[in-house]
Amino acid sequence: MNWNKRLPGCVIYDDGGYDLALAKQSVGEGWHGILERLFSAKPDWVMVVQVKEKFGGLRFYTDDGTVRVDCIGLGSFTVPTEKGQFTEDQIAQSQAFRNLVQEAEDESFSVCEDCGAPGKRRSGGWIRTLCNQCHKKR
Ligand SMILES: [Zn+2]
Repeated sequence: MNWNKRLPGCVIYDDGGYDLALAKQSVGEGWHGILERLFSAKPDWVMVVQVKEKFGGLRFYTDDGTVRVDCIGLGSFTVPTEKGQFTEDQIAQSQAFRNLVQEAEDESFSVCEDCGAPGKRRSGGWIRTLCNQCHKKR
């Protein structure tokens, strides 16, 4: 969709979503393997809208059927994507992928975000999941 072309003065957030390169820039190297697995299993029509670390765990958000649009003079609002056109098969595959994402997010709590070694959540000002070595470096 090209809302920005149809609506001059509007900015669409996450139109097109995250690709693997942008996702990798958003979290530590230790989780890049998890991201590669998710992107290779991702159905084409599922859009990744945000990837980040939160409370020591990977967060991998996929299209929830809306995108945020900011328009000069009109403010910010959300508009639906073309989700209504999906077939039953596609919806089932999307659901299966959501389960994979859930497993990957759970797994991230035991993988060092810096190096990929087995790790655990470390408390402190900023909760991170790290192995013993990377934890000592901080
Ligand atoms: Zn580590």
